Amino acid sequence: MSNNFENKIVLVTGASRGIGKAIANNFAAHGAFVIGTATSENSADGIKKEFGQNKYKGTGLVLDISKQNSVDKFADSLKDYGQPSILVNNAGITRDNLLMRMKNDEWESVIETNLNGMYRVTKLCLKAMMKARYGRIINITSVVGVSGNPGQTNYSAAKAGMIGFTRSLAREIGARGITVNAVAPGFIKTDMTEELSDDIKASLMKQISLGRLGNPDEIAKVVNFLASDDAAYITGQTINVNGGMYMG
Ligand code: NAP
Repeated sequence: MSNNFENKIVLVTGASRGIGKAIANNFAAHGAFVIGTATSENSADGIKKEFGQNKYKGTGLVLDISKQNSVDKFADSLKDYGQPSILVNNAGITRDNLLMRMKNDEWESVIETNLNGMYRVTKLCLKAMMKARYGRIINITSVVGVSGNPGQTNYSAAKAGMIGFTRSLAREIGARGITVNAVAPGFIKTDMTEELSDDIKASLMKQISLGRLGNPDEIAKVVNFLASDDAAYITGQTINVNGGMYMG
């Protein structure tokens, strides 16, 4: 099956690396004009360069979703390209620590980026989708938003918050032809999981039924499906893509 996203503008936050990069490239390979974001000029240029090398339509722009002024600036740049009808809220960070040791900054930065950032970017894109009576919003949450994980109270609170947001917004705007879904990856091979200690990696591996890490492309394909016409009747859902790590 190959979905065609010709004439669609797709916004993917955090498209410079890992899962976001795979999602952005997948949409671009299927004909979309993709706006991929990164937190620095250098990384945004990297996205542009890669699109150019692959002859993809799209661009790389700077966006820090944790700061409202960066989102406002990004909104101005967006005017040069048109309003996205497909939004993938992918950008996210971890600042792991046991709650007893967690610093306010570790709590706040994760909530500010993963949860408040999603709110800001969704709000930015919603008006045009409402007007067009069409849209697809896909939020990248996490298996730990449903299963919990020691050392990640901040991250799992933000990711569970994204799931509640997804369900409520789906109910608010379904009548406008806009679907809102979440994808909850398990343990995927990216910079984010590379940071984990060998002990944690080994204990996580034991929980994965398929006995291996996932690839970013395996998330991108599910996102592609949720954005396609084939998924027009799916909204408010969280799709688990975790190799059988958690079966909720
Ligand atoms: P990653 O390799 O660490 O990449 C994170 C991306 O987010 C980068 O493009 C980064 O941009 C961007 N980003 C970070 N802070 C940002 C900010 N304040 N504003 C805008 N962009 C920001 O992460 P990943 O593993 O691909 O994860 C992508 C998403 O999947 C995250 O939401 C993560 O929570 C979720 N997830 C990942 C896994 C996994 O196993 N990897 C599992 C479950 C869920 P720069 O390059 O400019 O820093």
